[in-house]
Amino acid sequence: MERGEALELLEHGTIFDMGKRADSARRNLHGNIAYYSVNAAVTYSNICQTLCPICSFARREGSEDAYLLTPAQAHERAVKFAEKGAREIHIIGGMNPKLPLDYYLDFVRSVKSAGYGINIVAFTVSECVLMSRVSGKPLDEVLKMLMEAGVNALPGGGAEIFDDSIRSKISPNKLRAEEWLDAMRTAHLCGLKTNATMLYGHIETPESVVDHLLHLRGLQDETGGFKAFVPLPYRRGKSDISSKSSGIYDIKITALARIVLDNFPHIRVPITHFGDRQAQVLLNFGADDIGGTHWMEEVAVSAGAKRMERSESFMRSIISVAGFDPLGGNSNYAH
Ligand code: SF4
Repeated sequence: MERGEALELLEHGTIFDMGKRADSARRNLHGNIAYYSVNAAVTYSNICQTLCPICSFARREGSEDAYLLTPAQAHERAVKFAEKGAREIHIIGGMNPKLPLDYYLDFVRSVKSAGYGINIVAFTVSECVLMSRVSGKPLDEVLKMLMEAGVNALPGGGAEIFDDSIRSKISPNKLRAEEWLDAMRTAHLCGLKTNATMLYGHIETPESVVDHLLHLRGLQDETGGFKAFVPLPYRRGKSDISSKSSGIYDIKITALARIVLDNFPHIRVPITHFGDRQAQVLLNFGADDIGGTHWMEEVAVSAGAKRMERSESFMRSIISVAGFDPLGGNSNYAH
């Protein structure tokens, strides 16, 4: 689909027209299956120097509620989650230039050593680029060291929206759009599979949404390294930037993504961000994956999402009630 047609759909298409096309594309790829994973998050620190205006999670070093986990604490948490049934751990945290590369490597090894064949999805490319800058090692070398330590995939965060004039307002100190895409290209060339996110519902324009998708589709044509596209509705939390997210907008974004990203295997709508009911609706509008149980999801909780301890049987029932066949595993779609 060309840019003009995608823009026309986003601005003037009805959810019914878009849904029909998206559902047909989704069913061609996955039939009646909908995926979920049993996973948990170990967020190593909320100390972040980037201080994006849209973020309610980050704390300055020295703040009363700032924290930094040790690798030993990470190990303890990973064991606890694995014993409870998690087979995948997500690791992300704030941007802290005081942390050496060895801290991240030890952290990953500590989580991996919990056993149970845990799949580790860790670090946005922004964090990886920071590790590269701090250590003075090229990004590909850092990524290979992370892989050796136990990282299986990158989660795909920090993409926000690929329009530098908008990025300069919502996350002025993060990687620019081109830098994010370059870092992802490097990760894919190193053999790391990744996801790709898009944060919407803030001050983005329809053009920036369509261009974001087209940039991702272009890179996927080049590398084939993306597993899932993950739309993320912006929640205001304590930020000054208001949210224009809505149920209808969620549907249009999800459907448009499925239609435009014809080379992406999966469209994931994390239940932690969309809630149970909206995730069920979105399965009918192009999505095929409701994400994971995500026990302890610190970032979403601090931005206003309700903390819920979802069980595997709950995830399965959410999918079944929506009329789909649940298939669980980890987010590498290994079952
Ligand atoms: S969004 Fe990420 S990089 Fe930005 S302030 Fe929050 S934790 Fe830091």
